Amino acid sequence: MDIVSPLLPSDVAWMRLALHQADLAARAGEVPVGAVVVSANGVCLAVGRNCPVAAHDPTAHAEIQALRRACAHERNYRLPGATLFVTLEPCMMCLGAMLQARLARVVYSAADPKTGACGSVLTLANQLHLNHQTAVTGGVLADLSSTMLQRFFQERRASRRAERDRRRQGTQPMESTGSAGGSGDA
Ligand SMILES: [Zn+2]
Repeated sequence: MDIVSPLLPSDVAWMRLALHQADLAARAGEVPVGAVVVSANGVCLAVGRNCPVAAHDPTAHAEIQALRRACAHERNYRLPGATLFVTLEPCMMCLGAMLQARLARVVYSAADPKTGACGSVLTLANQLHLNHQTAVTGGVLADLSSTMLQRFFQERRASRRAERDRRRQGTQPMESTGSAGGSGDA
């Protein structure tokens, strides 16, 4: 079953809001992923951003955060007709939660070749043997999301390299002082 959904005029604006959440996640040291849940009549119900490290919670993905807040706002564990916008292709956990919430549609930005469950690794949104299917639109502002993710990982690699170098340098002076002192005495 192919339920790839066409781009709607409002998709880009909602994705920009999700990208803002992703930027806030990056500033907090988390992988930059942001999400927004929009009701069937076009009202923003909740936003969420990735925070598994700070929350000590492997389920604290942006989509789960946004879904929990949207459901609390609606006082309903289901969100029929709603759309979730997210800056990275959802993983299987998040897509499972969206199916449980009976979302009508998911719109994502960058594809995730490692854990994407909307076609990159798995295709879970349109399985007819499951009791619900969700329409999918991918690639909305994908360049912006990819750039943000790449920059985050580049900066994280650089800071880890710098930290390793600092630690190495921190141990060297003691060794070199010892040997320099020894040779000086000799
Ligand atoms: Zn996820």
